[in-house]
Amino acid sequence: MSLKGKTAVITGSNSGIGLGIARELAKSGVSVVLNSFTDRDEDHALAKSIADECGVEARYIKADMSKGDQCRMLIEKAGACDILINNAGIQHVAAIDEFPTEKWDAIIAINLSSVFHTTAAALPMMRKAGWGRVVNIASAHGLRASPYKSAYISAKHGVVGMTKTVALETAKEPITCNAVCPGYVLTPLVESQIPATAAQYGISEDEAIDKVILAKQPSKEFVTVEQLAGTVQFLCSDAAAQITGTAISVDGGWTTQ
Ligand code: NAD
Repeated sequence: MSLKGKTAVITGSNSGIGLGIARELAKSGVSVVLNSFTDRDEDHALAKSIADECGVEARYIKADMSKGDQCRMLIEKAGACDILINNAGIQHVAAIDEFPTEKWDAIIAINLSSVFHTTAAALPMMRKAGWGRVVNIASAHGLRASPYKSAYISAKHGVVGMTKTVALETAKEPITCNAVCPGYVLTPLVESQIPATAAQYGISEDEAIDKVILAKQPSKEFVTVEQLAGTVQFLCSDAAAQITGTAISVDGGWTTQ
């Protein structure tokens, strides 16, 4: 089955993993809806470059994934949603007794509650279309914990749990729901942690990558955006029609330890 003519909504896709997934789906003939909370010329230019490059419809819709009504509005404005990629996410690192409440609230809203709102809005469209794919970009931190990331780890474990529930609720329909659990990927989210980690430990940036950031990733290599986009493509294919409710690790061996 070809994905040509399907429409994908990718939350948090003006950067990093979400943008990479949007590009890869567009190369397969999928119309894409990019999203973030900003409304800059460069956001719309990204959509235009994908449209020009891939010959598909590509739009950018501003919607703040920390707000439930805007999550639902994104899906409504998209008009169709055969493929929903829940990707928007933020991070904050602090001990739990020093964790700012507003950061906790923002991470739970963007990384977890948005998945509830967009999925609730998209499933009726998928049912009407008679086909659907929900792919939630969780994390190795949806399956394992690390210190100082209480909100992120709670949210990502929640996403893995919600993935299983949605899979059961759609099990008899031609709709699947899966989570992808990446290890460390070199995106702006991680790049910004390298100098801070080096300074914190008094080591070079190369040592910070090897000894701290990739300490848990046995391959000692970053996962690439292209590898994640390929995993999403597979989950959208016919070969994956009976794969639902799973959490697929793409983490260089992290969670097998
Ligand atoms: P990124 O910072 O490059 O991308 C995050 C995206 O989310 C951006 O497009 C940003 O604009 C968007 N976003 C942030 N707040 C938003 C809001 N309120 N409303 C709408 N969009 C918002 O980071 P990334 O590494 O590409 O992360 C993408 C996803 O992958 C996240 O869910 C992250 O937790 C997950 N992930 C990343 C890694 C990694 O190592 N980079 C590992 C595991 C999981």
